[in-house]
Amino acid sequence: MKKPRRPLGEIALIEQIRRDFSPMRSKHVALGIGDDCAILRPPTGSEIVVTTDFSLEGRHFLRDLHPPESVGHRCLARGLSDLAAMGATPLAAFLSLALPADLLSEPKGRRWLAGFFRGLRTLANRYQVPLAGGDTSQSPGKSPGEVLADIILIGATPTGKALRRSGASPGDVLYVTGHLGGAAAEFAEVLHRRKAVKAGTAKNHPHLYPEPRLAAGRALLGRSLATACIDISDGLSTDLAHLCRASGVHAEIEQSALPIHPLARKLGTGAAIQAALHGGEDYELLFSAPATTRIPKSIAGVRVNRIGRITQKRSATPLLTLKQADGKRNRLEPAGWEHFSAHR
Ligand code: ADP
Ligand code: MG
Repeated sequence: MKKPRRPLGEIALIEQIRRDFSPMRSKHVALGIGDDCAILRPPTGSEIVVTTDFSLEGRHFLRDLHPPESVGHRCLARGLSDLAAMGATPLAAFLSLALPADLLSEPKGRRWLAGFFRGLRTLANRYQVPLAGGDTSQSPGKSPGEVLADIILIGATPTGKALRRSGASPGDVLYVTGHLGGAAAEFAEVLHRRKAVKAGTAKNHPHLYPEPRLAAGRALLGRSLATACIDISDGLSTDLAHLCRASGVHAEIEQSALPIHPLARKLGTGAAIQAALHGGEDYELLFSAPATTRIPKSIAGVRVNRIGRITQKRSATPLLTLKQADGKRNRLEPAGWEHFSAHR
C-alpha cells in the first residue's frame, strides 16, 4: 500500500501539542515529545505499571453532546483512575490519536481539538502528569470518520506493593470512596437535553469531569490499608464481580449503606439504587480491608463508606448478594453499563 503523504495539519498539531505540554517538567521524564521514543526514569525501588484506554467517538463519547474539554478530561481520567486503583503514582502519559481530516483542516474542527487538549491539559496539570509522546494519524474509513483516542498511562509503585484485585479474603469489609450513581445520572441529564453542554467547572460533574482518586489510592497503598482494590469504571456490580472472581470470594452489599450521589437521588429511590449499583463511570475506588483494620472516615480528603463485606465462596450462594433495608437478601447480577451503544 502506498504510504500517504503526511498532511501539514498533523505536523502542526504535534508541534502545538509539544509547545502546550512542554512547560510541565518532570524528573521522571528524561526525554519527552520530539524524538523517536521518550525516555523515562522511574524512581529507584519502584515497578512500572501500565494501562491503556480507548476513548472512541460513538462508544465512549458523542461529539455533538460532550464538550471537547470533557472528552479530553475523561480520556486522561480513565487512565489515571486505573493507576489510582493500583495505588500508583503517574510518571507519564502517551496519546495515540486518529482524527477525521476536517478536524485538522476546518476552523470548527481545530476549535474542537483545542478544547479537547485544554480539558486533557487541565487535568494533567492538576496531577502533574507529563504528556511524553504519542502518535497522530488521519482516521480510516469513509469521510468524515471518527475521533479515536488511545491513552497510555505509565505509573510507578514501590516494588511488590501495587494494589491488586486479588487479595480479598472472607471476613474483609468492603469500602467505596465518594458517591455512586452520579455519572449515570448526569449522563441521563445530558442525553435528555440532547444538545451540547457547555464546559463547566470540574466540581460536581461526575460524568463530564470525573475526578480520578489518585491520592486516595496512594494513601491506601502507603498505609497498607487495603487487601484488594479496583476502580469502578463499569459499575459497582460489574467491578465487584471482577474483584470477587480475582480473589476467589463472594460478597454482600448492603443497599442502605450505598452512598448515593445527590444527582442520582433526584431520579427517585429505585432508579438511584440502580444507578449506584450498575451505572458505571463513577471512577471511585472499591476496596476491601480486614475487619480489624480501622479505616478513617475520609482518605486524602475523600469520604469513604463501608458498603458490605466479603464472604466465603460457596456453591450454594451467588457471587454477589444484595441485602435490602428490610433484611431480605437477593442475588445481585453484575449488570454494568454498556457505554453509549444503546443511545445511538
Ligand atoms: P514517528 O514518526 O517517529 O512516530 P511522529 O512524527 O509520529 O514520529 O511524532 C513526533 C513526536 O511527537 C514523537 O515524540 C511523538 O511521541 C510525538 N507525538 C506524536 N503525536 C502525538 C500526540 N498525539 N500526543 C503527544 N505526542 C505526540
Ligand atoms: Mg508516530
